[in-house]
Amino acid sequence: MTNVVVIGAGPAGVLAAIRAADLGARTTLVSSGEFGGMAANDGPVPVRTLAYAARLMHEARYLPRYGISAREPELQYDKLLERVREVTRDVRARSAIRERIDALGVQVYEQAGLARFTDPHSIETEHGLRLTADRFIICTGGVSRRLALPGIELTNSHGDALSLAAVPQSMLVVGAGSSGVQVASMFHAFGARVQIFEAGPHILAAEDEAVAAAVAGELRSSGVGVHERFGRITGFERTPVGVRMNYRNDGHDASAEAAVVVVAAGWVADTAHLNLAAAGVTVDLRGTIGVDEFLSTSAPHIFAAGDVTGRLMLVPGAVEDGFVAATNAVHGPTLPLWHRVSPSGSFSHPEYAQVGLTEAKARESHDVVTTVMPFDSAVRAILEGRTFGFCKLVVDRATCRILGCHVVGERAVEIVQLAAFAMTAEMSVDEVARVAISFPTYAEVLVYAAVRAAAELGLPLSGQAERARG
Ligand SMILES: Cc1cc2nc3c(=O)[nH]c(=O)nc-3n(C[C@H](O)[C@H](O)[C@H](O)COP(=O)(O)OP(=O)(O)OC[C@H]3O[C@@H](n4cnc5c(N)ncnc54)[C@H](O)[C@@H]3O)c2cc1C
Repeated sequence: MTNVVVIGAGPAGVLAAIRAADLGARTTLVSSGEFGGMAANDGPVPVRTLAYAARLMHEARYLPRYGISAREPELQYDKLLERVREVTRDVRARSAIRERIDALGVQVYEQAGLARFTDPHSIETEHGLRLTADRFIICTGGVSRRLALPGIELTNSHGDALSLAAVPQSMLVVGAGSSGVQVASMFHAFGARVQIFEAGPHILAAEDEAVAAAVAGELRSSGVGVHERFGRITGFERTPVGVRMNYRNDGHDASAEAAVVVVAAGWVADTAHLNLAAAGVTVDLRGTIGVDEFLSTSAPHIFAAGDVTGRLMLVPGAVEDGFVAATNAVHGPTLPLWHRVSPSGSFSHPEYAQVGLTEAKARESHDVVTTVMPFDSAVRAILEGRTFGFCKLVVDRATCRILGCHVVGERAVEIVQLAAFAMTAEMSVDEVARVAISFPTYAEVLVYAAVRAAAELGLPLSGQAERARG
């Protein structure tokens, strides 16, 4: 019987352990943290709970427009943090996964201390646990990238920001990827004066430019200071207010100050403690483990899955990786990763989401048609007063299939999920345009964007075409 040790109990590790045990391997799961990893304990679940509270604060402001009198909402942050802990406990308690893993006979060691390889087939943890195995699957996830700058110890990572005891009066957020924008948007809703700094030409570099511009515009008009191409940080220093960030912009010295500075400058593989050299596993300069299509590392008996491979950095990708890595660890390299449609999005204010290629990326290799359907053309958005936003479709002129869908506005994440179904089913854009759509729904913007694209491509339309003309 093959003996498999999985290191790290996040979504990748848990799935890998289940799959390996299901395939008959004697399986051990060892983790420095709690079962569930970041996804359950300090990633999406707590963040989405905070983001939901921020949303409720926004929604409360709509009440007077509907004749409902209410006082300005007042946040009791300690109670919100209690709710976050309650939700996290609840999600964990309702998960059937722990039962499944126990039923399969997986030996689980939680909070065992950081594991490190002592030779290619052995690990030991900080707490003295020693394990040997025929195969290993490394699922140790990632950590916030720490910038090497003077005074960096005065700053917080976005993870620290989420465990602040109180809402600070002011906050600087450095790095405007999805984590930075999420933190900025939430703490702005909670009442902090927030400024966000992005060294690149625009915030949300991974999003379609139209979405990034719309989010930046909305953040600015709601009162968040958005600084793009802000320059280069020279250091941080303590001040009576909190922390000052010094930077150079266009040859000039500049600074900004706030009670709290959050640095969200990226996410890197958590491999520093693993002593991978002892196992013959190679990593790149950022510590990311290189893998092939079977998730094999440079050591043929060691596999890697999830954020530690530096690829998708999302829960669904980690889960899929865990399944593939465990299958190959037990059966040998037989199951390659397959290309999956991977939607992603953020519950910031405004909400945004994407699936597939951005327009710029699609134009590098395809002849495309793009259509944009504004939210203010959908009755549901008008009746709920959420007319900000749009749905943009990028369609391949040759195949008439959707290459990308980018949405900013209310329910963006759900709308993009519908586009992901259509893309996975390889529907042509006119087939999407003919899907009967409940009235009134936010999903109309997707179908009407598809109607517009189908019309532009000269494809057959249905009665819905008239409603999409808008
Ligand atoms: C704030 C935040 C919000 C996010 N929101 C979303 C979202 O909404 N949707 C989404 O899909 N994704 C989201 N993500 C990303 C998602 O959480 C990760 O992609 C996912 O958790 C990766 O799973 P993983 O199993 O690779 O690693 P992790 O979940 O990070 O688990 C790694 C595990 O390895 C353990 N470990 C680390 N080093 C060692 C060692 N040396 N020895 C033993 N154990 C070790 C850790 O304790 C941990 O338990 C978010 C991430 C963050 C930070």
